[in-house]
Amino acid sequence: ANRSFQEDDSVIDISNGVKVGAENFMVCAGPCSVEDLDSTVELAIKLKDAGANSLRGGAFKPRTSPYSFQGLGVEGLKILNEAKKETGLPIVSELMGTDHLDTFVDMVDVIQIGARNMQNFDLLKALGQTDKPIYLKRGMSATIQEWLMSAEYIMAGGNNNVVLVERGIRTFETATRNTLDIQAVPVAQKESHLPIIVDPSHAAGVRYLIPSMAKAAVMAGANGLQIEVHEDPENAWSDGQQCLTPAEFKELMDTINVLLEIE
Ligand code: PEP
Ligand code: MN
Repeated sequence: ANRSFQEDDSVIDISNGVKVGAENFMVCAGPCSVEDLDSTVELAIKLKDAGANSLRGGAFKPRTSPYSFQGLGVEGLKILNEAKKETGLPIVSELMGTDHLDTFVDMVDVIQIGARNMQNFDLLKALGQTDKPIYLKRGMSATIQEWLMSAEYIMAGGNNNVVLVERGIRTFETATRNTLDIQAVPVAQKESHLPIIVDPSHAAGVRYLIPSMAKAAVMAGANGLQIEVHEDPENAWSDGQQCLTPAEFKELMDTINVLLEIE
């Protein structure tokens, strides 16, 4: 992952013409959890119209409480595939363990590894044996060096298609869910040739901060954004408090597109 091995920025081919890295900016949007077919397809159409070029949705959810909604499982992946058929948007979903690896290789375009699994080394090694693009989220108390070493675990197996995702780190501050480490963007880009995208949703944990933090990420030089959007945030099955509505997302995208011109 080190720049000393590759001077130029990595460009990772996601699918359907979508790339991330160097001049290719990736905007991945969607609900925290996939809930049902109709709402997912309808939302995907709106996200695409607003300018997203990939669709996120959790089907296997890492929830703090075992009594919270755990995701629809494989049914959720099927729904995402229907939304992909309808819109052409590549799909991103979180894999929590090696037991479903083959299913994910078949059914998603990008395998997301969540903050809680950033140092699940057996899982990382197994991903190294595939050629799938991987979103590697930063662990909530991981240093940038530890995060890059986790990328190294995947790459050491031969899979160089790793995208770093900054999603906030846990600090003493309680006003926000996590603290967005915006400095991680230029630091990771100095150290590594891998693309880095920013997830302001899980960093902030509150809706009103998403637009400003997304804009800050663009100006810091991020290669993309991952943003949670829900048609009806108040009634979302997870993370509603940090989801934008489709209209708010569209408004943000209009600004992001202007910033990308300047940047
Ligand atoms: C998510 O993307 O829904 C998620 C659980 O993110 P993180 O692993 O960053 O908490
Ligand atoms: Mn979420």
